[in-house]
Amino acid sequence: MPRILPIAKRGDPILQQRAQPVADIHDPAVQALLDDLLLTLEASSGVGIAAPQVFVSLRIIIVASRPNPRYPDAPLMQPLAMLNPEILWQSAATCTGWEGCLSVPDARAQVIRATRLHMRYLDRQGAVVEAAFDGFIARIIQHECDHLDGILFPERLPAQTPILTEAEFQQAIRGSTHEPVLKQ
Ligand code: ZN
Repeated sequence: MPRILPIAKRGDPILQQRAQPVADIHDPAVQALLDDLLLTLEASSGVGIAAPQVFVSLRIIIVASRPNPRYPDAPLMQPLAMLNPEILWQSAATCTGWEGCLSVPDARAQVIRATRLHMRYLDRQGAVVEAAFDGFIARIIQHECDHLDGILFPERLPAQTPILTEAEFQQAIRGSTHEPVLKQ
């Protein structure tokens, strides 16, 4: 049975390490971890999660955009597991959008990310996949790939960028057209 795993919080050394590639996709422990990550993400109102966030230093991310209380305007997609993901190319064009992190509770800020990515990764069956992503999903992928390199989103912010609490963020997006969240 999949389990909801505890989330590592900012300050934990595992979030600052470079995670190791997955050597054997078919290892039952890796497959069980994928199921645990999916369940943990579903239980958390997150739109993405990386293995180091559950204290496993492996290059695995789950991307699962869907509207929820933390990201009311997120597009809906099937959860996507990416193992050993590589950013092959990223656009010079960037966009600014709100981010938060399960490992950085009660903090939101606008982060600059590339608008479009070409990725290579292994799916959970071990097939090599190359695909392009843009907008909010490209944003999630960049945030989660940062976790694999020991980077948290506050480290991506230029000096003086305001960091809002969750309550301040909810107020900010209620008072606007939601454009900061969706217009990537
Ligand atoms: Zn995060």
